[in-house]
Amino acid sequence: MCGIVGIVQRDTNKIGKNIIDSLKKLEYRGYDSVGVATIENNQVKVSKEEGKITEVIEKIQLDDLHGKIAIGHTRWATHGPPSKENSHPHIDCKNEIAVIHNGIIENFQSLKKDLVTQGHVFQSETDTEIIPHLIEQFIQKEQMALKDAIIHTIRKLEGTFAICVLSSLDPDKIYCAKRDSPLVIGINSDRMFCASDIPAFLSHTRQVVLLHDDEFVTLSHDGYEIINFTNMKRVERRPYIVSWKPEMAQKGGFPHFMLKEIHEQSSSLADYIRIKQPSLHKISEKVYDAKKVFLLAAGTAHYSTLTGENLIRKYAKKPCTSIIASEYDSISPLIDEDTIVLPVSQSGETMDTIMAIKDAKKSGAKILSAVNVIGSSITRHSDDVLYLYAGPEIGVAATKTYTAQTLSMWDIGLEIGRISGELGNNEYDEARKLYNKIPSVVKQTIVRSEALANRIASWFAEKNSSFYLGRGLNLQTAKEGALKMKEIAYIHSEAYPAGESKHGPIALIEEDYPVVFIAPKDQTHKRIIGNIMEMKARGATTIGVIEKGDKEIGELVKWKMEIPKGYSEMITTIPYVIPMQLLAYYTAVKKGLDPSYPRNLSKSVTVL
Ligand code: GLU
Repeated sequence: MCGIVGIVQRDTNKIGKNIIDSLKKLEYRGYDSVGVATIENNQVKVSKEEGKITEVIEKIQLDDLHGKIAIGHTRWATHGPPSKENSHPHIDCKNEIAVIHNGIIENFQSLKKDLVTQGHVFQSETDTEIIPHLIEQFIQKEQMALKDAIIHTIRKLEGTFAICVLSSLDPDKIYCAKRDSPLVIGINSDRMFCASDIPAFLSHTRQVVLLHDDEFVTLSHDGYEIINFTNMKRVERRPYIVSWKPEMAQKGGFPHFMLKEIHEQSSSLADYIRIKQPSLHKISEKVYDAKKVFLLAAGTAHYSTLTGENLIRKYAKKPCTSIIASEYDSISPLIDEDTIVLPVSQSGETMDTIMAIKDAKKSGAKILSAVNVIGSSITRHSDDVLYLYAGPEIGVAATKTYTAQTLSMWDIGLEIGRISGELGNNEYDEARKLYNKIPSVVKQTIVRSEALANRIASWFAEKNSSFYLGRGLNLQTAKEGALKMKEIAYIHSEAYPAGESKHGPIALIEEDYPVVFIAPKDQTHKRIIGNIMEMKARGATTIGVIEKGDKEIGELVKWKMEIPKGYSEMITTIPYVIPMQLLAYYTAVKKGLDPSYPRNLSKSVTVL
């Protein structure tokens, strides 16, 4: 949600271009406007406009700015609609201080009222604009130096923020701070970066310093200095080297990030299996021993936790509920020190999830998480973490992180099965053998289904609405398939338990209405055949995601998307989602849409 970049460089060359290059790497986060501030001839210069980066740089040459320091922002509006005035950076009355911000300042109204009374004039409707004015106020009224004024200002802010400040009063430095919103530092010999995420500077450096909540940083040519702005203690933190390669955040020859990430799934899942997770046993044991277990997630991650919920019920033989993070309040009264809360997240920055975790911790719950981004806020709030090792995911609609999250649920489930004895030694070994084959099954599935998905997409692209039906564990696979179609192809798609479809949804079926069935050869197979017949009898056009060689369903459906044989219930929730990812992708492409950057959506949802 929004992208922040700050650069301090040794020469004055092309700083605008450098900022824009970095902001482009953060486009996946979602945004509606762009702006940059630099210092030219000792004056703060702000250029900003509503629109996407490529549109904006055609109107104003953001990439042609010069100077030794600059800050840039892609805004995802929360306070005030997308417009030039509301775009960041925001400035004080004297045009000496420019600020960019990600997050929400909850007490901005009362602060703004005071500032207006003191004579400050506001240009925008944003919450952010109070920040430069408040800094200005501390400098004017309290005769503070810039740095002290910024620290006093951020100590007054309630809510969530990652902010960067540059000023003609101290023209060689960028000041930044964070609470709950993401901010990282990148270090290279002639350029220092601060940014919302690592891909912003990955092509320049792999040396990264992760910032924690309540930290304030001074960035200059000479390096970085971190202090905790609540207790004013200096923080010593050395950079670490990220293993991500720059090309991992690029398209690697694919037309879109999303297709690249779909194809990467066999290797990302293989990475997950290969890398030993020291916390797996501890996490599984704690889940098994706990009185109450709640899985917590938002969006796609929620569907992976539905697999987790089923597996924990099955192998730990205890009630387990997966809850959507923004609906956490409904379970809050049940949380106590005998509770495990297990959040699952790609970014580790999802605000709904973070807020729920904070509340659960207050009630004494243990937090055990599964997260992709190392060092992210959720990992820091957790007692133990299982990392997903899926690498950076740029496409807004999750693909490789969904399969990694689901795999992590299987990993925990099988380990609990071993601990509880629900899986005997031989059964456990057999299950692990199948588990280890998942990457190759995924690879074969992609090869088998891509051309067909492309063909079906030409027909699907003409439709306005569709159903995705599944039973048992694969109800959530259907849900994830429907979500993908909705997110990137903008076709209304609803997932339903196949057996329940006759209680309502069937009323919508008419000639050539698309119904996708997720129908592996497991205990749900016989019954789903009945549901396919019901839909066909009313004119639906059916697509089956089925096991290769399944003649019974293969002969009933119009199109069959086949998954390699013989993997039973054990791993279906992973490969069976692949044809639906490809179908959604190609349908979006046929409609002329960019599947990696769907409208109105943001990859990392850092507001409530
Ligand atoms: N709340 C701020 C605004 O509406 C920042 C939004 C963002 O994170 O992009 O401008």
